[in-house]
Amino acid sequence: MPISDYLVTIGLEVHCQIKTNTKMFCSCQAGFGYDPNTNVCPTCLGMPGALPVLNEFAIERTLLTGLMLGCGNPEISQWDRKNYFYADMPKNYQTTQMDFPLCLGGKVPLYSWAFPTDAKVKSESAIVRMVELEHIHLEEDAGKLTHYNNYSLVDYNRGGTPLMEIVSAPDITSPEECYAYLKSLQQILICGGISDADMEKGQMRCDVNVSLRPHGQDKLGERTEMKNVNSMSAARRSLVYEIARQAGELDRGIPQVQSTRRWDDDRGESIVMRSKENAHDYRYHTCPDLIPVHTAPLLARVIDLVPELPDALQARLIQQYALAEADANTLVADSATCAYFEAAAEQSTSPRKVANWTINNLSAMLSEKDISIAQCPLSPTALAGLVNIVEEDIVSVNQAMEVLALLWEQPELTATAAAASLGYKKTDTGALESLVEKVLAENPDKVELIKNGNTKLINALTGQVMKAGNPKPNPKIVTEIITAKLGL
Ligand SMILES: [Zn+2]
Repeated sequence: MPISDYLVTIGLEVHCQIKTNTKMFCSCQAGFGYDPNTNVCPTCLGMPGALPVLNEFAIERTLLTGLMLGCGNPEISQWDRKNYFYADMPKNYQTTQMDFPLCLGGKVPLYSWAFPTDAKVKSESAIVRMVELEHIHLEEDAGKLTHYNNYSLVDYNRGGTPLMEIVSAPDITSPEECYAYLKSLQQILICGGISDADMEKGQMRCDVNVSLRPHGQDKLGERTEMKNVNSMSAARRSLVYEIARQAGELDRGIPQVQSTRRWDDDRGESIVMRSKENAHDYRYHTCPDLIPVHTAPLLARVIDLVPELPDALQARLIQQYALAEADANTLVADSATCAYFEAAAEQSTSPRKVANWTINNLSAMLSEKDISIAQCPLSPTALAGLVNIVEEDIVSVNQAMEVLALLWEQPELTATAAAASLGYKKTDTGALESLVEKVLAENPDKVELIKNGNTKLINALTGQVMKAGNPKPNPKIVTEIITAKLGL
């Protein structure tokens, strides 16, 4: 039967690295780019007798995430050991949370702008719907294995860094919703300063669970889980494949078994790794080395840190700066660019134009030079100044592009000074009018043709005035004066 005859149920486990200076249970530095096995100590290497110390900041960040997502909290949260042997986990157990995670319940909003561009949804409000969460817990990351032909290398720098796991209920119904869930969650984590959540850098990774059942059946089908999917589009692709694969097998009467699969994005297929182990296989037990966490005093410390969430930000951008919805959505999706825009908009008479310049011209320059907005030589003040001189008709939009290029090279200049050094100054209207009159008087034949309907020739006259003008006038103003003088 066709795939549409099956109900699709998807659940996501998102692992997110928390932005902290140090690891979860020791004072080793967290972070990337260091030589292998340089940020390690007896605790994160699992040496006998080494004892863990809790990273309070990581716990606070997890609680803050819970507040942003409307979670509840158990009064006391505790730590458990998940026992397994793997070369990237030298203790032979992972310290995690099983029965009393830091956050319970909660919801992730699916933002209308977070859906894939080829699968946009029509929505009256910024939030299309809310996806239920089961819980959020905190654990430690494993080390990193790199496999070669006949050997593997392990780097324990990542071992023991704080990893937050956000577990959704089986409440996602399509690959497109999965994409929107990841994108929306990523924006929330970034706006709360919890994580940079860059999936390419592995700061956010997800395990994707999916099962199918015929319409009318209440019991969920047997699910498969794809591990460590590392981009939103890969998650979407993996689900499209897996849903078709399961539907095909169910059609042929092949029952599904719970299993763990690996998504090979290059080959576009999932490969079975093992039939899924259950929680009891890991022999979870309470960690005897760590005291439970009383959540109330820590929650009180972070409650004031709850930021403006993306949907509230989008509404404010539209209301405060009169932005078009599409521009507001673009800015919400990129917090650094949004902060740049707001800093510039506050100094400009036309925030809407500032948004256009930021999203279009400035972004184009940044991608041409292959740098981020954080490295942009042009300050928000300079961009606001540039937009202002266009608004004041000191320069045309084309001339402003030249000014932008100069400001890029000489960021210490103001927009007005950069324009002046290119010969663009505020036009003396009286002087410009006499110049226009002079050019009109010198070109009676063209004036006649224009009056007879050949309005294209206005450009030629504008060109002549531009050539004669010093400082160089704004062509838009010149054309306006010519049109007025000819009574058109
Ligand atoms: Zn350590």
